[in-house]
Amino acid sequence: MINVTKPFLPPKEDYQNQINQIWERQWLTNDGPVVNALERGLKDYLKIEHALFVSNGTIALQIAIKALELTGEIITTPFSFVATTSSIVWENCTPVMVDILPGSLTIDPTKIEAAITPRTSAILATHVYGNACEIEEIEKIAKKHNLKIIYDAAHAFGTKYKGKSLYAYGDVSTASFHATKLFHTIEGGAVFTNNPDTLKSMSMMRNFGYQNGTSFGCVGINGKNSEFHAAMGVCNLLHIESILEKRKSQSERYTQILKSLPLQFIQITEGCEFNYAYYPVIFQSEAQLLKTVAALNEASIFPRRYFYPCLSTLPYITSQNNTPVSMDISSRVLCLPLFHTLTETEIVFICDIISKSLQS
Ligand SMILES: *Cc1c(COP(=O)(O)O)cnc(C)c1O
Repeated sequence: MINVTKPFLPPKEDYQNQINQIWERQWLTNDGPVVNALERGLKDYLKIEHALFVSNGTIALQIAIKALELTGEIITTPFSFVATTSSIVWENCTPVMVDILPGSLTIDPTKIEAAITPRTSAILATHVYGNACEIEEIEKIAKKHNLKIIYDAAHAFGTKYKGKSLYAYGDVSTASFHATKLFHTIEGGAVFTNNPDTLKSMSMMRNFGYQNGTSFGCVGINGKNSEFHAAMGVCNLLHIESILEKRKSQSERYTQILKSLPLQFIQITEGCEFNYAYYPVIFQSEAQLLKTVAALNEASIFPRRYFYPCLSTLPYITSQNNTPVSMDISSRVLCLPLFHTLTETEIVFICDIISKSLQS
Protein backbone atom coordinates (compact mmCIF):
# COMPACT_ATOMS: atom_id res chain seq x y z
CA MET A 1 0.00 0.00 0.00
CA ILE A 2 1.25 3.50 -0.87
CA ASN A 3 -0.40 6.42 0.89
CA VAL A 4 -0.20 10.06 -0.09
CA THR A 5 2.23 10.59 2.77
CA LYS A 6 4.17 8.77 5.41
CA PRO A 7 5.64 10.63 8.38
CA PHE A 8 9.41 10.95 8.50
CA LEU A 9 10.83 9.16 11.55
CA PRO A 10 14.34 9.79 12.88
CA PRO A 11 16.55 6.90 14.08
CA LYS A 12 14.76 5.41 17.10
CA GLU A 13 17.89 5.66 19.30
CA ASP A 14 18.01 9.43 18.77
CA TYR A 15 14.45 9.90 19.96
CA GLN A 16 14.99 7.37 22.78
CA ASN A 17 17.99 9.35 23.92
CA GLN A 18 15.90 12.53 24.11
CA ILE A 19 13.17 10.67 26.00
CA ASN A 20 15.69 9.30 28.52
CA GLN A 21 16.82 12.83 29.30
CA ILE A 22 13.22 14.01 29.73
CA TRP A 23 12.69 11.06 32.12
CA GLU A 24 15.66 12.15 34.21
CA ARG A 25 14.62 15.80 34.36
CA GLN A 26 10.97 14.91 35.00
CA TRP A 27 10.09 18.14 33.20
CA LEU A 28 7.40 17.10 30.74
CA THR A 29 5.81 20.33 29.52
CA ASN A 30 5.51 24.12 30.17
CA ASP A 31 8.35 25.88 28.37
CA GLY A 32 10.88 23.16 29.11
CA PRO A 33 14.49 22.82 27.90
CA VAL A 34 13.63 20.74 24.81
CA VAL A 35 10.96 23.25 23.73
CA ASN A 36 13.58 25.98 24.16
CA ALA A 37 16.14 23.94 22.21
CA LEU A 38 13.66 23.41 19.37
CA GLU A 39 12.79 27.11 19.22
CA ARG A 40 16.52 27.97 19.10
CA GLY A 41 17.09 25.33 16.43
CA LEU A 42 14.22 26.65 14.31
CA LYS A 43 15.48 30.23 14.56
CA ASP A 44 19.01 29.15 13.59
CA TYR A 45 17.94 26.96 10.72
CA LEU A 46 15.35 29.34 9.32
CA LYS A 47 17.42 32.45 10.06
CA ILE A 48 14.51 34.27 11.66
CA GLU A 49 14.40 36.30 14.85
CA HIS A 50 11.45 34.94 16.79
CA ALA A 51 9.60 31.63 16.94
CA LEU A 52 7.01 30.34 19.39
CA PHE A 53 6.33 26.60 19.39
CA VAL A 54 2.62 25.89 19.93
CA SER A 55 0.39 22.84 20.15
CA ASN A 56 -0.77 22.79 16.50
CA GLY A 57 -1.18 24.85 13.34
CA THR A 58 -4.82 25.63 14.04
CA ILE A 59 -4.14 27.13 17.48
CA ALA A 60 -1.32 29.06 15.76
CA LEU A 61 -3.88 30.68 13.44
CA GLN A 62 -6.28 31.41 16.29
CA ILE A 63 -3.54 32.98 18.42
CA ALA A 64 -2.43 35.10 15.43
CA ILE A 65 -5.97 36.42 14.83
CA LYS A 66 -6.40 37.13 18.56
CA ALA A 67 -3.00 38.80 19.04
CA LEU A 68 -3.56 41.13 16.07
CA GLU A 69 -6.97 42.00 17.60
CA LEU A 70 -8.77 41.34 14.34
CA THR A 71 -12.49 41.97 14.08
CA GLY A 72 -15.12 42.10 11.35
CA GLU A 73 -14.11 40.70 7.97
CA ILE A 74 -10.94 38.85 7.02
CA ILE A 75 -10.12 38.35 3.36
CA THR A 76 -9.04 34.80 2.59
CA THR A 77 -9.36 32.13 -0.12
CA PRO A 78 -11.44 28.96 -0.28
CA PHE A 79 -8.49 27.01 -1.71
CA SER A 80 -6.85 25.93 1.53
CA PHE A 81 -7.28 23.45 4.35
CA VAL A 82 -10.46 23.89 6.39
CA ALA A 83 -8.52 25.23 9.42
CA THR A 84 -7.73 28.48 7.55
CA THR A 85 -11.42 29.33 7.32
CA SER A 86 -12.68 27.70 10.50
CA SER A 87 -10.13 29.61 12.63
CA ILE A 88 -11.53 32.90 11.32
CA VAL A 89 -15.07 31.87 12.18
CA TRP A 90 -13.96 30.45 15.56
CA GLU A 91 -12.50 33.86 16.40
CA ASN A 92 -15.85 35.51 15.62
CA CYS A 93 -14.68 37.11 12.40
CA THR A 94 -16.23 36.72 8.94
CA PRO A 95 -14.21 35.12 6.16
CA VAL A 96 -14.59 36.92 2.85
CA MET A 97 -13.61 34.61 0.01
CA VAL A 98 -11.40 35.87 -2.78
CA ASP A 99 -10.38 33.70 -5.73
CA ILE A 100 -6.94 32.28 -6.50
CA LEU A 101 -4.55 32.58 -9.42
CA PRO A 102 -4.95 29.64 -11.82
CA GLY A 103 -1.17 29.00 -12.03
CA SER A 104 0.30 29.41 -8.54
CA LEU A 105 -3.03 28.62 -6.80
CA THR A 106 -2.39 31.38 -4.23
CA ILE A 107 -4.67 34.37 -3.57
CA ASP A 108 -5.22 36.60 -6.63
CA PRO A 109 -4.02 40.05 -5.50
CA THR A 110 -6.03 41.79 -8.23
CA LYS A 111 -9.23 40.49 -6.61
CA ILE A 112 -8.45 41.66 -3.08
CA GLU A 113 -9.29 45.37 -3.33
CA ALA A 114 -12.82 44.77 -4.62
CA ALA A 115 -13.49 42.66 -1.51
CA ILE A 116 -12.38 45.32 0.99
CA THR A 117 -15.14 47.02 3.00
CA PRO A 118 -15.04 49.35 6.05
CA ARG A 119 -15.28 46.18 8.18
CA THR A 120 -12.18 44.51 6.72
CA SER A 121 -9.35 44.11 9.25
CA ALA A 122 -6.92 41.69 7.60
CA ILE A 123 -5.85 39.39 4.81
CA LEU A 124 -5.26 35.74 5.72
CA ALA A 125 -3.57 34.05 2.77
CA THR A 126 -2.20 30.53 2.42
CA HIS A 127 1.17 29.75 0.85
CA VAL A 128 -0.52 26.91 -1.04
CA TYR A 129 1.46 23.63 -1.13
CA GLY A 130 4.47 25.62 0.12
CA ASN A 131 4.41 27.97 -2.89
CA ALA A 132 4.71 31.67 -2.03
CA CYS A 133 1.83 34.14 -2.36
CA GLU A 134 2.33 37.37 -4.33
CA ILE A 135 3.86 38.89 -1.22
CA GLU A 136 4.78 42.33 -2.60
CA GLU A 137 1.35 42.94 -4.11
CA ILE A 138 -0.39 41.84 -0.92
CA GLU A 139 1.83 44.09 1.21
CA LYS A 140 1.06 47.08 -1.02
CA ILE A 141 -2.68 46.57 -0.69
CA ALA A 142 -2.48 45.99 3.06
CA LYS A 143 -0.47 49.16 3.56
CA LYS A 144 -2.82 51.24 1.46
CA HIS A 145 -5.91 50.06 3.35
CA ASN A 146 -4.30 49.66 6.77
CA LEU A 147 -4.91 45.91 6.97
CA LYS A 148 -2.94 43.26 8.85
CA ILE A 149 -1.50 40.25 7.03
CA ILE A 150 -1.43 36.70 8.36
CA TYR A 151 0.14 34.00 6.23
CA ASP A 152 -1.07 30.48 6.79
CA ALA A 153 2.39 29.03 6.15
CA ALA A 154 1.43 25.52 7.30
CA HIS A 155 3.13 24.08 4.19
CA ALA A 156 6.01 26.51 3.99
CA PHE A 157 8.83 24.91 5.97
CA GLY A 158 12.02 25.28 3.92
CA THR A 159 10.56 27.54 1.23
CA LYS A 160 12.42 30.78 0.70
CA TYR A 161 11.20 33.97 -0.88
CA LYS A 162 13.79 36.50 -2.02
CA GLY A 163 16.40 34.60 -0.04
CA LYS A 164 14.49 34.60 3.27
CA SER A 165 12.27 31.99 4.92
CA LEU A 166 8.59 32.49 4.03
CA TYR A 167 7.96 32.67 7.78
CA ALA A 168 9.71 36.06 7.81
CA TYR A 169 6.79 37.71 5.98
CA GLY A 170 3.46 39.09 7.15
CA ASP A 171 2.48 40.56 10.52
CA VAL A 172 2.31 36.94 11.64
CA SER A 173 3.12 33.70 9.86
CA THR A 174 1.85 30.40 11.18
CA ALA A 175 3.25 26.91 10.72
CA SER A 176 1.89 23.42 11.23
CA PHE A 177 4.24 20.68 12.37
CA HIS A 178 1.61 17.95 12.10
CA ALA A 179 2.89 14.45 11.27
CA THR A 180 1.69 14.79 7.67
CA LYS A 181 3.77 17.92 7.07
CA LEU A 182 7.27 18.08 5.62
CA PHE A 183 8.81 18.94 9.01
CA HIS A 184 6.87 17.61 11.98
CA THR A 185 6.74 17.29 15.75
CA ILE A 186 3.92 14.68 15.68
CA GLU A 187 1.40 17.40 16.59
CA GLY A 188 2.63 20.96 16.73
CA GLY A 189 2.92 24.34 15.10
CA ALA A 190 4.50 27.74 15.47
CA VAL A 191 3.82 31.44 15.20
CA PHE A 192 6.39 33.84 13.77
CA THR A 193 6.45 37.65 13.87
CA ASN A 194 8.97 40.46 13.62
CA ASN A 195 6.91 42.74 15.85
CA PRO A 196 7.96 42.69 19.55
CA ASP A 197 4.50 43.66 20.84
CA THR A 198 2.76 40.96 18.79
CA LEU A 199 5.37 38.48 19.98
CA LYS A 200 4.71 39.38 23.60
CA SER A 201 0.93 39.03 23.16
CA MET A 202 1.25 35.67 21.43
CA SER A 203 3.67 34.43 24.07
CA MET A 204 1.19 35.31 26.85
CA MET A 205 -1.78 33.94 24.91
CA ARG A 206 -0.07 30.60 24.42
CA ASN A 207 0.14 30.26 28.20
CA PHE A 208 -3.35 31.20 29.53
CA GLY A 209 -2.54 34.93 29.33
CA TYR A 210 0.03 34.72 32.15
CA GLN A 211 2.28 37.79 32.28
CA ASN A 212 4.39 36.18 34.99
CA GLY A 213 3.65 33.55 37.58
CA THR A 214 1.10 35.66 39.45
CA SER A 215 -0.53 38.11 37.05
CA PHE A 216 -2.41 37.98 33.77
CA GLY A 217 -1.84 40.35 30.84
CA CYS A 218 -4.61 39.24 28.49
CA VAL A 219 -7.13 36.54 27.75
CA GLY A 220 -5.24 33.41 26.83
CA ILE A 221 -5.58 29.79 25.88
CA ASN A 222 -3.49 26.66 26.40
CA GLY A 223 -1.41 26.62 23.24
CA LYS A 224 1.74 25.15 24.81
CA ASN A 225 3.42 22.06 23.50
CA SER A 226 5.24 19.28 25.35
CA GLU A 227 8.85 18.17 25.70
CA PHE A 228 8.01 14.90 23.92
CA HIS A 229 6.71 16.73 20.85
CA ALA A 230 9.65 19.13 20.88
CA ALA A 231 12.02 16.15 21.08
CA MET A 232 10.64 14.79 17.79
CA GLY A 233 11.26 18.20 16.25
CA VAL A 234 14.83 18.39 17.57
CA CYS A 235 15.55 14.94 16.07
CA ASN A 236 13.84 15.69 12.74
CA LEU A 237 15.57 19.03 12.31
CA LEU A 238 18.88 17.16 11.95
CA HIS A 239 17.50 15.51 8.79
CA ILE A 240 15.74 18.45 7.19
CA GLU A 241 18.28 18.99 4.42
CA SER A 242 18.03 15.39 3.26
CA ILE A 243 14.21 15.52 3.49
CA LEU A 244 14.13 18.61 1.26
CA GLU A 245 16.63 17.19 -1.25
CA LYS A 246 14.80 13.89 -1.50
CA ARG A 247 11.45 15.53 -2.19
CA LYS A 248 13.01 17.71 -4.86
CA SER A 249 14.47 14.75 -6.73
CA GLN A 250 11.28 12.67 -6.34
CA SER A 251 9.20 15.59 -7.65
CA GLU A 252 11.52 16.09 -10.59
CA ARG A 253 11.22 12.42 -11.44
CA TYR A 254 7.39 12.66 -11.37
CA THR A 255 7.50 15.68 -13.66
CA GLN A 256 9.90 14.00 -16.06
CA ILE A 257 7.44 11.14 -16.61
CA LEU A 258 4.14 13.03 -16.33
CA LYS A 259 4.94 16.15 -18.35
CA SER A 260 3.86 14.58 -21.65
CA LEU A 261 0.40 13.74 -20.28
CA PRO A 262 -2.64 16.05 -20.38
CA LEU A 263 -2.00 17.34 -16.84
CA GLN A 264 -1.34 20.79 -15.45
CA PHE A 265 1.32 21.46 -12.81
CA ILE A 266 1.62 24.14 -10.17
CA GLN A 267 3.46 27.27 -11.29
CA ILE A 268 6.06 28.37 -8.78
CA THR A 269 5.84 32.06 -7.88
CA GLU A 270 8.67 34.27 -9.08
CA GLY A 271 11.32 34.78 -6.40
CA CYS A 272 10.28 31.59 -4.59
CA GLU A 273 12.63 28.71 -3.81
CA PHE A 274 10.09 25.92 -3.46
CA ASN A 275 10.24 23.22 -0.77
CA TYR A 276 8.42 20.48 -2.76
CA ALA A 277 6.05 19.95 0.15
CA TYR A 278 3.43 18.34 -2.11
CA TYR A 279 3.17 16.99 -5.63
CA PRO A 280 -0.18 18.24 -6.97
CA VAL A 281 -1.39 17.51 -10.50
CA ILE A 282 -4.46 19.07 -12.12
CA PHE A 283 -6.51 16.88 -14.45
CA GLN A 284 -8.44 18.20 -17.43
CA SER A 285 -11.72 17.14 -15.85
CA GLU A 286 -13.04 15.81 -12.56
CA ALA A 287 -14.15 12.68 -14.45
CA GLN A 288 -10.55 11.97 -15.47
CA LEU A 289 -9.42 12.56 -11.91
CA LEU A 290 -12.02 10.15 -10.51
CA LYS A 291 -11.20 7.51 -13.08
CA THR A 292 -7.48 7.78 -12.28
CA VAL A 293 -8.05 7.71 -8.52
CA ALA A 294 -10.09 4.53 -8.95
CA ALA A 295 -7.29 2.92 -10.99
CA LEU A 296 -4.70 3.93 -8.38
CA ASN A 297 -6.85 2.69 -5.50
CA GLU A 298 -7.23 -0.60 -7.32
CA ALA A 299 -3.43 -0.92 -7.06
CA SER A 300 -3.50 0.07 -3.34
CA ILE A 301 -2.21 3.56 -4.03
CA PHE A 302 -4.01 6.29 -2.15
CA PRO A 303 -3.41 9.82 -3.38
CA ARG A 304 -5.41 12.62 -1.77
CA ARG A 305 -7.92 15.10 -3.13
CA TYR A 306 -6.34 18.08 -1.45
CA PHE A 307 -7.67 20.73 -1.21
CA TYR A 308 -11.16 19.37 -1.67
CA PRO A 309 -13.90 20.38 -1.22
CA CYS A 310 -13.61 24.08 -2.01
CA LEU A 311 -14.08 25.91 1.33
CA SER A 312 -16.77 28.21 -0.08
CA THR A 313 -19.06 25.16 0.14
CA LEU A 314 -18.65 24.84 3.93
CA PRO A 315 -22.04 24.83 5.67
CA TYR A 316 -21.09 27.87 7.80
CA ILE A 317 -19.96 30.06 4.91
CA THR A 318 -22.67 32.50 3.97
CA SER A 319 -20.78 35.01 1.82
CA GLN A 320 -21.94 34.88 -1.78
CA ASN A 321 -18.60 35.75 -3.38
CA ASN A 322 -17.98 33.90 -6.56
CA THR A 323 -14.69 31.99 -6.69
CA PRO A 324 -14.87 30.00 -9.93
CA VAL A 325 -11.13 29.26 -10.17
CA SER A 326 -11.03 27.73 -6.67
CA MET A 327 -14.18 25.72 -7.34
CA ASP A 328 -12.79 24.42 -10.60
CA ILE A 329 -9.26 23.63 -9.41
CA SER A 330 -10.39 21.90 -6.22
CA SER A 331 -12.54 19.55 -8.30
CA ARG A 332 -9.58 18.58 -10.53
CA VAL A 333 -6.50 18.61 -8.31
CA LEU A 334 -4.88 15.53 -6.83
CA CYS A 335 -1.81 15.25 -4.57
CA LEU A 336 0.31 12.24 -5.50
CA PRO A 337 2.24 10.21 -2.92
CA LEU A 338 5.37 12.06 -1.77
CA PHE A 339 7.40 11.05 1.28
CA HIS A 340 11.00 10.38 2.21
CA THR A 341 11.05 6.64 1.56
CA LEU A 342 9.07 6.66 -1.71
CA THR A 343 11.21 4.78 -4.23
CA GLU A 344 12.01 5.36 -7.87
CA THR A 345 10.23 2.10 -8.75
CA GLU A 346 7.10 3.22 -6.92
CA ILE A 347 7.11 6.58 -8.72
CA VAL A 348 7.38 4.85 -12.09
CA PHE A 349 4.61 2.42 -11.09
CA ILE A 350 2.28 5.28 -10.02
CA CYS A 351 2.96 7.26 -13.21
CA ASP A 352 2.34 4.19 -15.32
CA ILE A 353 -1.14 3.76 -13.87
CA ILE A 354 -1.93 7.46 -14.36
CA SER A 355 -0.69 7.33 -17.93
CA LYS A 356 -2.75 4.21 -18.77
CA SER A 357 -5.84 5.73 -17.15
CA LEU A 358 -5.51 8.91 -19.23
CA GLN A 359 -4.93 7.06 -22.46
CA SER A 360 -7.72 4.53 -22.22
C1 LIG B 1 -2.27 21.32 8.26
C2 LIG B 1 -2.83 22.68 7.97
C3 LIG B 1 -3.37 23.49 8.99
C4 LIG B 1 -3.64 22.99 10.38
O1 LIG B 1 -2.52 22.55 11.07
P1 LIG B 1 -2.71 21.49 12.27
O2 LIG B 1 -1.33 21.43 12.83
O3 LIG B 1 -3.15 20.21 11.66
O4 LIG B 1 -3.70 22.06 13.22
C5 LIG B 1 -3.77 24.78 8.66
N1 LIG B 1 -3.66 25.25 7.41
C6 LIG B 1 -3.17 24.50 6.40
C7 LIG B 1 -3.06 25.10 5.04
C8 LIG B 1 -2.76 23.19 6.65
O5 LIG B 1 -2.33 22.44 5.64
